[in-house]
Formats: sequence, C-alpha cells, structure tokens
Amino acid sequence: MIPANAPSTQPTPWQVQWREAVREPAELLAALGLERLSDRLAVGGTRQFPLRVPRHFLARMRHGDADDPLLRQVLPLDAEDQPAAGFGLDAVGDLDARAAPGLLHKYEGRALLVATGSCAIHCRYCFRRHFPYAEETAAANQWSGALDHLRRAPDIEEVLLSGGDPLSLSTAKLRQFTDALSGIGHVKRLRLHTRLPIVLPARIDAPLLDWIAGLAQQCIVVVHANHPNEIDRDVTSALTALREAGATVLNQAVLLRGVNDDVESLAGLSLALFESGTLPYYLHQLDRVAGVAHFEVDDARALQLVEALRTRLPGYLVPKLVREVAGAGSKLPL
Ligand SMILES: *Cc1c(COP(=O)(O)O)cnc(C)c1O
Ligand code: SF4
Repeated sequence: MIPANAPSTQPTPWQVQWREAVREPAELLAALGLERLSDRLAVGGTRQFPLRVPRHFLARMRHGDADDPLLRQVLPLDAEDQPAAGFGLDAVGDLDARAAPGLLHKYEGRALLVATGSCAIHCRYCFRRHFPYAEETAAANQWSGALDHLRRAPDIEEVLLSGGDPLSLSTAKLRQFTDALSGIGHVKRLRLHTRLPIVLPARIDAPLLDWIAGLAQQCIVVVHANHPNEIDRDVTSALTALREAGATVLNQAVLLRGVNDDVESLAGLSLALFESGTLPYYLHQLDRVAGVAHFEVDDARALQLVEALRTRLPGYLVPKLVREVAGAGSKLPL
C-alpha cells in the first residue's frame, strides 16, 4: 500500500543522511541565525561528546530562536562544563550490571544489549555520554558473547537492543543477530530502543520493515521523542510503517528543563504520538551524570506536571514518571 502522503521523489538513503549530519557548532548556529550564542558554547563538554545533528532534525528547529526545544537538546552550552554536586560518571550502575561484553542484566526476565555505541544525534542530557563504548558493544565479535550468555540464561524472555542506537547498525547486521536468536526458544520478545525513527526517519526503509515483519519474536519498538515539534510528517510515516510491520510502538521521553517541562509540551507530545500510532511509555527523570545538571527538573515540579496531564488527557496518554536508581530491580515510579 502506498501511503497518501508518500513523497514523490526518492528520499536520500539514510546512510547518506547519517554522514551529512552537522558536526560543527558554528555551522548549526549559522544555519539558525544564532551566531550570537557562539561565546556560550561548551569547551570540555564538546570535546568529550561532540555535537552531532542530522539535517532533517535541524530542519524542524525554529530560525532565530535560542530557546527552541529541539536546539536545546543538542547544543553544547557552557553550563555543561560546570561541575555539579551529585552528578557523577555512572549514575545508573551500568558498570556493575555487566553480564557479558555489551550485555546488561539488571532486571528479571529482560537483558539489555549495548548493540553499538553510535548514535545519529548526540543528545546533551544523555547518560551514556560517559559509557566506555569501545570495549562494550555486543555487535562486535559477531554477537557471540551476548548470544552465548542468552543461551545459558533460560529466564531471559525479552532481549532489548539499545546503545547507542541499535538501528545505526546495518539491517544485515541486525538480521545476523535475530537469525541466531530465533534458535533460542526462551527469548519471546525483541525490543528495540531507538531514536532513529524520530531524528532520521529515512532509516525506516523497506529492508528494515521486512526484517521486523519477519521476526520470530514479538517486536516492541520504543522510540524517544521529547517534544511535539519533533513529530513531523516523515516521522509520522515512519512510526505508522513500524506499526504496520507488526511492532508495538511506544515512546519514552526525558523530562528536561527548558525543553518539555510544561503541560502544553507534554500533552502535545502524547497527542502527536498517538496520531502516529504510538503510545507514551515512560517519562524519565534525568539520570544524574556529569554535564547535565542544567536540564534537571525537581521532583515536586515533575509530579505536578504529570498530575496536570492526568486531568487533561485520557489515561492511556499519560506516561509513567520514573527514575532509574542504581541497584533497584526496576525503574522506580516517583
Ligand atoms: C530500562 C532497562 C530495561 C527495561 O526496563 P522496562 O521497565 O522493562 O522498560 C531493561 N534492562 C536495563 C538494563 C534497563 O536499563
Ligand atoms: S543514546 Fe539516545 S539519548 Fe543518548 S545520545 Fe544516543 S540517541 Fe540521544
């Protein structure tokens, strides 16, 4: 079926769009007419976690608006370089939960694979900005370490591919994993945690959809959008296509000061997602890693926002407000 809003020309392949991402803060600011912000850029933060923004995401930002909610998620500002008490390097205890290279087994029945360290976009608030990716990816070594562990762990019913962004791997590489996984009978569900359908929707191409439609496991795709302005027509098409391929599509967002810490943005996000066949899942309180303190929203305000959402929206459009606590057996509700 050809969707009514299908583009009339061939879109640029996702790999090309990936390579052409903006990587220079000066170029980003110039594209938005915001050169005046150039003396507020982070130095240490940018060196450690460089700027990266797909042009399709840049196109959704408002020209000349320094407070644009999409820009704020990606622009390395000098606030990142300010040390803040209580903001460390491994806030969520990932380094203690390693069961095999690139495999985190923290919660009952579910194992998370750090499939790759790459992302199409670099989100300034991301807790993985400090994770030692180079030694820790499951796709290196043809997935064999992770697969060996999964074969020996009959209690694992659900495998999460995370990262980084697992859809930054080629579809062939993903297929190599799920072909081997289909021989492990106790794994019933495959979950993908990915921001690519949002930031680079061209990634949801025909080969990827074929792969999802043919999976032996039930497939859940958890995307990551924080603000309704992220959902444009191409994103809606990508989310709809994932659902039509048989995936259950959910969204997780992070509550971020100056991005989505108002009822209007959060309600708009839930509604825009639902119009694309996607349900809100989690609204995360920020993980307290170094360099992100300026994004934090305090718990009282977070609870107030979700309370306001509950009166405004049907219950199925209200995400669960949670925090990740090192050592806990699940994400914890606030
Ligand atoms: C968040 C997370 C999961 C999944 O938790 P759900 O509550 O099922 O979404 C699984 N493993 C790890 C290591 C996680 O961080
Ligand atoms: S892991 Fe997700 S949140 Fe972190 S930088 Fe990559 S896309 Fe952004």
